[in-house]
Amino acid sequence: MAIKKIGVVGAGTMGNGIAQIASQIGCDVVMRDIETRFVEGGMKNIDKFLSRSVEKGKIAADQKDEIIGRIKGTTDMAELEDVDFVIEAVIEDMDLKKEVFKELDGLVRPEVILATNTSSMSITEIAASTNRPDKVCGMHFFNPVPLMRLVEIIRGYATSDETVTITRELAEKMGKVTVEVKKDSPGFIVNRIMIPHMLEAIKIVEEGIASIEDVDTAVKNGLNYPMGPFELMDLTGIDIAYFVTEYFYKELNKESKWAAPNLLKTMVRAGKLGKKSGGGWYSS
Ligand code: NAD
Repeated sequence: MAIKKIGVVGAGTMGNGIAQIASQIGCDVVMRDIETRFVEGGMKNIDKFLSRSVEKGKIAADQKDEIIGRIKGTTDMAELEDVDFVIEAVIEDMDLKKEVFKELDGLVRPEVILATNTSSMSITEIAASTNRPDKVCGMHFFNPVPLMRLVEIIRGYATSDETVTITRELAEKMGKVTVEVKKDSPGFIVNRIMIPHMLEAIKIVEEGIASIEDVDTAVKNGLNYPMGPFELMDLTGIDIAYFVTEYFYKELNKESKWAAPNLLKTMVRAGKLGKKSGGGWYSS
């Protein structure tokens, strides 16, 4: 079955980026959020990104209009009824994701694949809320979606080979490099590697071994990473880092290496969440 129309659930940071690249490959897109202001915010973000692409000469102005013209923003889930593929990007909350998948399962054709953009949670658990667990998989994009090249394709317990193949082909059509995560496990590949690295960085500062600035400088210049762990946490949210760490600790047998350092908890308790709160590891 050809994928001509894609449903995106959630118009936030990830959802609007996904809607944009889905439209860029020529698909019609329905992007749904719960309130008009979130839908409008998502559309505005797409417009901003594409306007910059026009300024840089990467696309023509009429191409921008075509891409935006294929995206329909809505608050009505029923508008996803006739889509050929769904990508869910609502907030990282298991109960909400299960609710959304249950609703989608009753709405879209039985052969349609339902993919989730969760960054760490169980695909098997999300899939179990549907009557099509073989057609549910993880499709994990990275932020910012139009620029980051990787997509992790994650198998839940019942995900079929066909679901993995179709999802991989779609991601590749979107210009992405794909990897397959063969077993459902917290954080998949990238976040499973990134979280310990982030926790060690916090412990180094907590133990007084080096300053925040020097840890970032060391990682950027010694490991050749584009950003240091503290700069990255300020960008993506220190609260998110904390929630993911707590989830790992719970899911990965409460091994002490996954326990949140006291300094990380303190930052969250103090409301120092990074750029979104006006300050985090760095003051702004
Ligand atoms: P976000 O908060 O920016 O956007 C989430 C959106 O979902 C919000 O606009 C919210 O109103 C909407 N929403 C809530 N309930 C909904 C419903 N029932 N139907 C439709 N929309 C609903 O969050 P985000 O950063 O875009 O993250 C979305 C997902 O992507 C999460 O699972 C997250 O873990 C994952 N993810 C995030 C990043 C990142 O760097 N931000 C990277 C990779 C994956």
